Amino acid sequence: MDPAPAFRVTYWGVTGSYPRPQPAAELATSLAHLLGAATEHHGQEAISAALGDTAGLEQLFAARDGESPCFFGGDTTCIQITAGDQLFIVDAGTGLRLLSQQLARTTGLRGNIFLTHAHFDHLCALPFFEPLYDPTARFLVRGAQRVLAAMERIGLPNSDLSGTFLPQTVDQMPGLMGCAAIEAGESLRCADVTVSTFALNHPGGSLAYRFDRAGKSIVIATDHEQAETPDSALAKFAQGADLLYMDAQYLQREYAGETGIGDEAPQARIGWGHTPIEACLPTAIAAGVKRLDLGHHEPRRSDAMLRELDGYARQLPNAGGSLRAGLAYQGLTVNV
Ligand SMILES: [Zn+2]
Ligand SMILES: [Zn+2]
Repeated sequence: MDPAPAFRVTYWGVTGSYPRPQPAAELATSLAHLLGAATEHHGQEAISAALGDTAGLEQLFAARDGESPCFFGGDTTCIQITAGDQLFIVDAGTGLRLLSQQLARTTGLRGNIFLTHAHFDHLCALPFFEPLYDPTARFLVRGAQRVLAAMERIGLPNSDLSGTFLPQTVDQMPGLMGCAAIEAGESLRCADVTVSTFALNHPGGSLAYRFDRAGKSIVIATDHEQAETPDSALAKFAQGADLLYMDAQYLQREYAGETGIGDEAPQARIGWGHTPIEACLPTAIAAGVKRLDLGHHEPRRSDAMLRELDGYARQLPNAGGSLRAGLAYQGLTVNV
């Protein structure tokens, strides 16, 4: 049996900017791809045999290693990291409600919620995280002081913005132990895990987090616009990581304004705080990371467009194959 991994990473939301429920008009395209891929892999008979059997179909349609998934999901940023019996959550985008559903029946939960920044797509599901309402749970929210100060203005019962964005206030959350500031460049220990931070280049700022445990490391660097390629400072922070998750919202031609996204008119996206895919690979190579998961997907893209992009990302220069790069998708779990 394999030894227990140092980290188990699950992506609950990898869409950028705003949630993207799949339009009904796209379902037929996704279904056709799904059936085609499953038939190719398992044969027509296996598909016929599985019809009407939900568990059997789920197995047939499960994403296979090395292949693009049929669905990338449309929830915004939320990444679960477990390290032994410790639970870490990076960001509270709409993906957090899926994790909340999974954890809802577990009492006595302990965890740390690390916020990269306070943009809505990274924060909006925090009041809907059910363990916060469980008196047996103990969660600490961590992030830059300016992020926590903004949250206090929204969530404290007597603050000026209390009740403006949502009815819940923090005094109704017995599972929330409090907030603790961590600034760029600082690090902390959570039992046998070291968590370090790095300032990303994003309007209003964003923090990258690095988790180190038992000789393994993972880095979450989302909402970042590289000022140079490769990004030497980020590469230094992510040096030797086993897994690097990066914001890769655009293609270079979309970023430069040469083409639009989908049928949109071209517009330059320089200064918007995100990095084109083509610029992520050289940084990951400079950092010597083993696996690069690209995320913060542009919400204008359909699953079919993301599948195409995944294929494109996989054939970009990848240090002779030593870097495994591809698009992250919702529901993907990686053991490190
Ligand atoms: Zn974002
Ligand atoms: Zn942002």
